Amino acid sequence: MHCFNHKSKNAVGVCKNCQKGLCHDCIEVIKDIYLSCKEDSCKANTVEECQITERTKKAYGIGKYESNKPPFVAILYAILGVYFILPPSIDLINSDFNIGDALSVAFGVVFIFVAAHFAFRKEKLHCP
Ligand SMILES: [Zn+2]
Ligand SMILES: [Zn+2]
Repeated sequence: MHCFNHKSKNAVGVCKNCQKGLCHDCIEVIKDIYLSCKEDSCKANTVEECQITERTKKAYGIGKYESNKPPFVAILYAILGVYFILPPSIDLINSDFNIGDALSVAFGVVFIFVAAHFAFRKEKLHCP
């Protein structure tokens, strides 16, 4: 493949945004890994995509954000679960448990399961 701008030069990469083949002089490396042409709209788009990827990785605890701590979404669902389970538990202690409390507990349990799913799923997201 030849450079989109210089037909005589070989392309060394492809713009992440417009998919044009580019030579050394036409290519730009964004955040050390993404390739973009020198078009401003392409550069802006590539930077934005980069940010989305980073934020997603952070929220789900993927890649360099992977740690022994559960990812942010797991904590969020766990808090929701506790929020739904705690008030009915107090009602239960006070012998005031009703159908609304039962429903609340059911929701809480679902949230706890979702939290557990996110907390333990990250092992399977290892990219080779
Ligand atoms: Zn481009
Ligand atoms: Zn070129």
